Amino acid sequence: MTEKSYGGNNGVREHSGKTIKNKSKVQSINNKNVSKKSAETKNPKNKEIDNLTEEESYKKAGEISVKIKDFARNLIKPGMPLLEIAKKIGQEIENYGAISAFPVNLSKNEIAAHYHPSLEDNETAEGLLKVDIGIAINGFIADTAFSMDLTPEKKYKELIKASEEALDNALGILDKNPSLNEIGKIIKETAEKKGFSPIINLSGHELKQYDVHAGLTIPNYGNNNNTKLENGAYAIEPFVTTGEGKVIDGQSSNIFKITTPKNPRNPTARKILEYVAEKYKTLPFSLREMQEKFGPMARLGLRELEQIGAVHNFPQLIEKSRQPVSQSEHTFIKTKEGKIIVTTR
Ligand code: MN
Ligand code: MN
Repeated sequence: MTEKSYGGNNGVREHSGKTIKNKSKVQSINNKNVSKKSAETKNPKNKEIDNLTEEESYKKAGEISVKIKDFARNLIKPGMPLLEIAKKIGQEIENYGAISAFPVNLSKNEIAAHYHPSLEDNETAEGLLKVDIGIAINGFIADTAFSMDLTPEKKYKELIKASEEALDNALGILDKNPSLNEIGKIIKETAEKKGFSPIINLSGHELKQYDVHAGLTIPNYGNNNNTKLENGAYAIEPFVTTGEGKVIDGQSSNIFKITTPKNPRNPTARKILEYVAEKYKTLPFSLREMQEKFGPMARLGLRELEQIGAVHNFPQLIEKSRQPVSQSEHTFIKTKEGKIIVTTR
């Protein structure tokens, strides 16, 4: 499938044997304490994070995402290895006591999404680079993205402006309680007014605890769906292109998530499963981190996990006519009172 569909709780077991708490119980924005004893939050310096409510966790994740975006904008220079960028951003996220809600996506040009370098990667930052960042605090997520034009002549300036304006316009009507159709329509109109097309098989989405792509889909075109947003957390993410406006599956992204509890024979595979179930639960993780943690056997271990159906390997998402793609994304929460709070700006 080409749709982005990170996350999802399929009753994956932590290595302690407990089933991970069903996220459906914590989907509403409320002030209940949602503290989790994850590997990270056992660290005494993160006690403060443990005590945050759900709404506070969403806001904290958003605040950190703003700092990480600044960090990334200052860090990334044309010609810099994507591997170096990925490592530094990943480390900086953990320096704040957060974890990556998914491995930072560093997708160039016609790759719309789902590119994360492995340790062997030789790609460098160039062209039109999308930086898509996920921050999780107690499992509550800030999902936000921006695009950088790394060409000397700034040839993607207008394309980037189009996705930014489409996002701003969509966020700008949220106070009027729009339908999904109305949100999608304004995104498409904004892109087309500038002579570009939205990517229609990529979309915004609902967010839930430990679940990046939960429930509702927020389209990048008018889809005649008159559903309105209930209280919860959502991401809006226009993708805009000079091409056809569709993505197809490409090669492996080196981004995985646990889908089904299994017992692999390969010892590295077993270690990977234990590590990921504890740290990320059902959130996506990278081959790169497993290579750093478990050495050269990690690739083989993950291959076995894929073969026995324990993990899903996300494909890269490539613009069908191989044309450049720009992306802009923010996360917002809608409170029970109907108040809209954009957490990632
Ligand atoms: Mn994103
Ligand atoms: Mn998203």
